[in-house]
Amino acid sequence: MPRSTSKSPAKKPARRAHGYVYAFGPGRADGDRTMKELLGGKGANLAEMCRLGLPVPPGFTISTEVCTHWYAHGRKLPVTLASEVEAALAQIEKTVGRRFGDPEDPLLVSVRSGARVSMPGMMDTVLNLGLNARTVEGLARTSGNPRFAWDAYRRFVGMYSDVVLGLKAHGEKSMDPFRTELERVKHERGAKLDTDLTVDDLRGLVARFLDIVKERTGKPFPTDPREQLWGAISAVFRSWNNERAIAYRGLNHIPSVWGTGCSVVAMVFGNLGADSGTGVAFTRDPATGERKFVGEVLMDAQGEDVVAGLRTPDPLNTLEKRSPKAWKELVLIQARLETHYKDMQDIEFTIERGRLWVLQCRSGKRTGTAAVRIAVDLVKEGVITQREAILRVEPSSLDQLLQPVFDPAALAAARASGRRLTKGLNAGPGAASGPIAFTPSRAIELAKKGIRAVLTRIETSPDDILGMQAASGILTARGGMTSHAALVARQMGRVCVAGAGELEIDYGDGTMTVRGRTLKEGDWISIDGSTGEVYAGEMPTGSSDVCAVLLEGAKPKRGSIWPAYKALLGWADDVRKLGVRANADQPDQGRAAVAFGAEGIGLCRTEHMFFGEGKIELVREMILAETSDERVRALKKLLPLQRADFAGIFRAMAQRPVTIRSLDPPLHEFLPHDDAAVAAVAKHLGLATERVRDKAEALREQNPMLGLRGCRLGILYPEITIMQARAIFEAACDVAAETKRKPKVEIMIPLVGTRAELDLQAEIVRATAEEVFAERRMRIPYLVGTMIELPRACLVAGDIAKTAEFFSFGTNDLTQTTFGISRDDGNRFLPDYVERGIHDDDPFATLDREGVGRLMRIATTEGRGTRPGLKVGICGEHGGDPRSIALFHELGLDYVSCSPFRVPLARLAAAQAALNSK
Ligand code: ADP
Ligand code: MG
Ligand code: MG
Repeated sequence: MPRSTSKSPAKKPARRAHGYVYAFGPGRADGDRTMKELLGGKGANLAEMCRLGLPVPPGFTISTEVCTHWYAHGRKLPVTLASEVEAALAQIEKTVGRRFGDPEDPLLVSVRSGARVSMPGMMDTVLNLGLNARTVEGLARTSGNPRFAWDAYRRFVGMYSDVVLGLKAHGEKSMDPFRTELERVKHERGAKLDTDLTVDDLRGLVARFLDIVKERTGKPFPTDPREQLWGAISAVFRSWNNERAIAYRGLNHIPSVWGTGCSVVAMVFGNLGADSGTGVAFTRDPATGERKFVGEVLMDAQGEDVVAGLRTPDPLNTLEKRSPKAWKELVLIQARLETHYKDMQDIEFTIERGRLWVLQCRSGKRTGTAAVRIAVDLVKEGVITQREAILRVEPSSLDQLLQPVFDPAALAAARASGRRLTKGLNAGPGAASGPIAFTPSRAIELAKKGIRAVLTRIETSPDDILGMQAASGILTARGGMTSHAALVARQMGRVCVAGAGELEIDYGDGTMTVRGRTLKEGDWISIDGSTGEVYAGEMPTGSSDVCAVLLEGAKPKRGSIWPAYKALLGWADDVRKLGVRANADQPDQGRAAVAFGAEGIGLCRTEHMFFGEGKIELVREMILAETSDERVRALKKLLPLQRADFAGIFRAMAQRPVTIRSLDPPLHEFLPHDDAAVAAVAKHLGLATERVRDKAEALREQNPMLGLRGCRLGILYPEITIMQARAIFEAACDVAAETKRKPKVEIMIPLVGTRAELDLQAEIVRATAEEVFAERRMRIPYLVGTMIELPRACLVAGDIAKTAEFFSFGTNDLTQTTFGISRDDGNRFLPDYVERGIHDDDPFATLDREGVGRLMRIATTEGRGTRPGLKVGICGEHGGDPRSIALFHELGLDYVSCSPFRVPLARLAAAQAALNSK
């Protein structure tokens, strides 16, 4: 707990003197906005608004320390709490002029949860607390509105029974006995809305509700308001650990030790008739970020009516006519709050008989687009600095600005008409719509006709790459966020929904069944990679504004987010220390990366080129060769094709550095697996089927990821490295001659564990370079370096750096080998590990600071010890993860490299890391 970690003896008495309860009332408060850790966001902001003199009903907040105490001491509250609560309650009574539990004129309160960061709707709140058979009559008399009083009582019994007594099983509406009862009475009376019921209907309902409680719990509903109050306070603390809250914390990396605060607030009533109401307002549009005051209001209603969706609220500005005085005041207050907090605010308010009350304010949740627009606008308005703006935008939310989007109206229509099929993981954001293709070849065929398919696979493998490239989106039944499909899709900028487990795909029949519905190859589907949702049928999409400008050279539309995006990333570039490169192995990927701001290529995987048109056959011929001579012959044919690939990349990257990795994957990945494919390859190469099958069999390994791959291939078959080095240097010379500018070449040897391995490969590369330079009468400056992706390489990095001219951490393999967890099999248990807190995060998504991070620190320090100024980068998936990027900044790396579409995110995350570390 924040307070108790402070060991300074000077502070302790101050806290004691204050105790656990912080009161607030007109124009004064014990707490303020800086005390979120202790009071929760809601409590801190209620206090702050009181200090600002805003109309907030009086109340008090019980600190988050009490929540922690409650859990640490067998669900018991600290003994001194009762007297503090009594004193604070007395203060509310004095301010309001009513007494809690007074049958003549009762004070009612709400008991509300609120953590340090907002967890909307995850925890519980009880309204109208303090009602019983006697106080309800008092409320009826003093309000002059018996219907209102009985409606409040009915709401209270329902809510209290749910939240405190646990009567509504898991919050399911259909399981809510009170709702069922209410609907029954409404039906009998022919009433459409809750508000159509009479006082007598409501009296009858309350009696029924109280009976239900007795039947189900075996105890009468508590009538003593004080007993009600303590029940609700405990329930709020209990709700910190309900299933929803735990799940939300997991997703948002919120520590479970924080605990929730509990605010007790005098009730104000929005359900006192047509001149009363309740609503939520945003100081700027949370969807677009536009500077306009928007929101919703519901007249004659209480807060939960808006959320429950029982009645449809009206647009906020309808208040102007209905309650002009309250509207005017609200407009002033929202402006005041935004200026005060220097950010877009989300405001909950209630109007009681024309009088405005503010019940909550907080920084509003917003889309990625809105986040960027608001941050940049606030700088222009002089409210925040550029640095503050950089820190305001969650880097991963930039994804939303780059991906194609579904037309919002079409999406709503699809949902309404039951076209939603299922939901998988949102593995590659964006929207794609197209005919189903169950095989890569089908996707390619369609692409040739100008139709972009949705490649739908049980799972994908490296030889699906061309099909993935040809498709507009990828849908898989199996695999997680770091599965092959997801990883490749993100690098390509393809929309991807992975691991949609409800899909039953039958390649044989060419059908896919989901929830009893069967679709055929060629049927249209639409996938939303930002939400993971899958729809039947076609849905119109468009390029995002930013991509239209950057990749298609379009003129920005009026009101486009483009200028704000450009400004924000420009500011980020000014402050970041880390360089940003991209992982790209095609010229178009390289161009996209440059458009997105990449300063070079950090990883060009040559094997992806091997699957290209006319190449895979030659690769197979090379693999199937019996002798070194045969292999050299096949490689000779491959050389010009590789050279053309590299020339394309060098042209696209102009004078930016390009790091090319020599062949890495085990060779069997290039060979066919099933009988038909084996026969076809044999026929094509004019070989016996057996020979192909035997070779494929011979190359099979128990653990291919720990087998004959990486530099081991080039050491056993030096001809491969020679061919690749030759293709690279010849291409560099060609492009230098053609453009009069020399490309910046960096050759990277993968999976090195000892310096001897690197020496062998580096020697071959350098000898080949000299040959080519002599033939071409030209020299190209180049570096030979290595990927650091084995723990051993980290530990002997000082030695390896004697040969290596640069390092690039391959954090996928390094994580795999450090943990001894296969990336492909890990998702069977990693989610469980994370859920049970064995790992804080999936180490393949966010770099493990203590283990892998420590190895990286050793390697960087010792590498630079040998070779001062050694260039060190990272090119694993972690290069696109904001929290990992913060660590890479700390480690003093030179650059991160990530997929092209993550480059903007990495630029922003690198800037935030630089600002946060100051
Ligand atoms: P949440 O965090 O889920 O929004 P809140 O504690 O803010 O929960 O309360 C739920 C609803 O009840 C909100 O609409 C809020 O404005 C309303 N509410 C809370 N306290 C009061 C009160 N004292 N008087 C009137 N309405 C209230
Ligand atoms: Mg609220
Ligand atoms: Mg690797």
